[in-house]
Amino acid sequence: MTGLEFHRQLTLQPKSPSERAAIFANPGFGNFFTDHMVDICWSEAGGWHRPRIQPYGPIELDPAASVLHYGQEIFEGLKAYRHADGSIWAFRPDANARRLQSSALRMALPELPVEHFLDSLKALISVDAEWVSSEPETSLYLRPFMFAKEAFLGVRPAKKVAYYLIASPAGAYFTGGVAPVSIWLSESYSRAGKGGTGAAKTGGNYAASLVAQNEAYAHGCQQVLFLDSVEGKYLEELGGMNIVLVYKDGSLVTPLSDSILPGITRDSVLQLAEERGHKVTRRAVTIAEWRDGFESGEIVEAFACGTAAVITPIGQVKAKDFTIGSPDTAAGELTMSLREELTDIQYGRRDDSHGWMYRLDG
Ligand SMILES: *Cc1c(COP(=O)(O)O)cnc(C)c1O
Repeated sequence: MTGLEFHRQLTLQPKSPSERAAIFANPGFGNFFTDHMVDICWSEAGGWHRPRIQPYGPIELDPAASVLHYGQEIFEGLKAYRHADGSIWAFRPDANARRLQSSALRMALPELPVEHFLDSLKALISVDAEWVSSEPETSLYLRPFMFAKEAFLGVRPAKKVAYYLIASPAGAYFTGGVAPVSIWLSESYSRAGKGGTGAAKTGGNYAASLVAQNEAYAHGCQQVLFLDSVEGKYLEELGGMNIVLVYKDGSLVTPLSDSILPGITRDSVLQLAEERGHKVTRRAVTIAEWRDGFESGEIVEAFACGTAAVITPIGQVKAKDFTIGSPDTAAGELTMSLREELTDIQYGRRDDSHGWMYRLDG
């Protein structure tokens, strides 16, 4: 496949270096956006067409656009990292491209070719490279997404779809050191059901998680942990992060289920652990196994993982009738050393022996 030729319409009002510096001083997550965005149209008749770079701004959408009614939408999340020599890289973006395709299949959306996905990342960086900060542990969060834009209220897959890419500067996730989080065990709500959309990165899964997330906040927790929807006893994942348990013999276990989103961070971290000689198992794990294993000393660490925070140690799980751990449980040693190894690769501080990094600039 030949590379896409993006039509370029540059903004007449780019942020000034000082405005950008003010944003970089306190970017948080998902609050500010770069000067441009990329979009590619799709229609049943014409396939993928009209790739564009244009000024970042509101999208015009017909009120009948089916995404607004039936939620036919998918997205991705990955980061651009600035290395010490100034070059800009993404981490395994081909895996995000393929996952966008599998999400598309589940949500009856068209598959965007992997090359178009990668070209869109490079196109945005070609105009917004200055938005990739060189401050330690910062990045430019890239958010590709696709939605049904056909104006039609009948229920069927849309014949007109849009793919967009926007980007948002991200600060160091943990300011003042990596801190273990408390998570709330949701026993009233499921995130995804058997045969449902749990393995697709689609907005509806997030919409379904928010009421449980509110419950977590009400119990003083930052995140919510979901169980399987059939028996309500097997671990699934957090609202937007996968989960891994570490056993005292050094083995790692992560839940296996077809309603879990297959995280690229989890896949990478488990591969690094395997290469160090740790045994890694993907299998069904119950919440009872975690509770009993923690009490007996069999399970010694737990962490959540995803692109935004990379690896977050879990200090405590709070449930209606029991608690595992405590909020001041220290971050696990293996958890932290895997986090360091992965972020060293991402920021170019360590040799990329897996060929995971993909250059976005130049
Ligand atoms: C995106 C996401 C993850 C993490 O995936 P990464 O590829 O590691 O960022 C985990 N769970 C859910 C529900 C997600 O949407």
